[in-house]
Amino acid sequence: MLQLKNMHKSFGKNEILKGVDLSIDKGDVVVIIGPSGSGKTTFLRCINFLEKADQGHATFGDLTVDLHSASKRQIHQIRQKVAFVFQNYNLFNNKTALENVTEGLIIGRKLPKAKAEEIAKQALDKVGLTDKYQSYPGELSGGQQQRVGIARAVALNPDIILFDEPTSALDPELVGEVLTVMKDIANEGTTMVVVTHEMSFAQNVANRVIFMNDGVIVEEGSPHDIFLKPKEERTKKFLRRIL
Ligand code: ATP
Repeated sequence: MLQLKNMHKSFGKNEILKGVDLSIDKGDVVVIIGPSGSGKTTFLRCINFLEKADQGHATFGDLTVDLHSASKRQIHQIRQKVAFVFQNYNLFNNKTALENVTEGLIIGRKLPKAKAEEIAKQALDKVGLTDKYQSYPGELSGGQQQRVGIARAVALNPDIILFDEPTSALDPELVGEVLTVMKDIANEGTTMVVVTHEMSFAQNVANRVIFMNDGVIVEEGSPHDIFLKPKEERTKKFLRRIL
């Protein structure tokens, strides 16, 4: 479904991504784990042009784009297929939950308001926010705000949803409700790539776990392989530290 080839990205003199390849199939739930600063978030952001990669290609069906020099039209085409859930929710604080979800449908997808609201309400229902359509982000808990962020992504009906550390800004007691929603969405067959430090999610929901370190994919496999039978010393060392 999506092939990423030879992604490179530096910030100044720091080479953050050193040639990352990844192929994602329909229905995959790919969880990327790895030490802080290993480039996980940068990798995700380069996929849908929140950062511009220095080098690399993305192929989506018959569409191949250069991640460094894609045209505006190509970026738009990719963003029609790929939705993003941000660590800090990135909601409009002056818009209600419903308006936050309809925004992309009206502006990006050019849907009429009534249709956008119908879809947005279904998405908010799915994440358990039926009674919060008219609430502003400031009136919602962090977990509820992130669920609006997830509803916004789901409503776009993308081919893939990228989640960038979706629970790391949350108080511990609010993490579970967001992971539950993500698990529900995964169980519906949504293709997802998730950067997270939540190892229980990686173990229980992912079908593929990627261990990234120092700008490269060191190892990938099933959760069973990575957590119980890691091959690479760097993976073993990381897991010993965190489990
Ligand atoms: P964490 O798990 O802590 O979020 P990560 O693996 O997701 O880490 P990244 O957020 O991709 O790592 O960051 C990799 C490196 O790139 C870090 O050293 C970070 O400081 C640096 N970096 C990220 N974004 C920028 C930026 N916009 N400008 C300069 N340096 C950046």
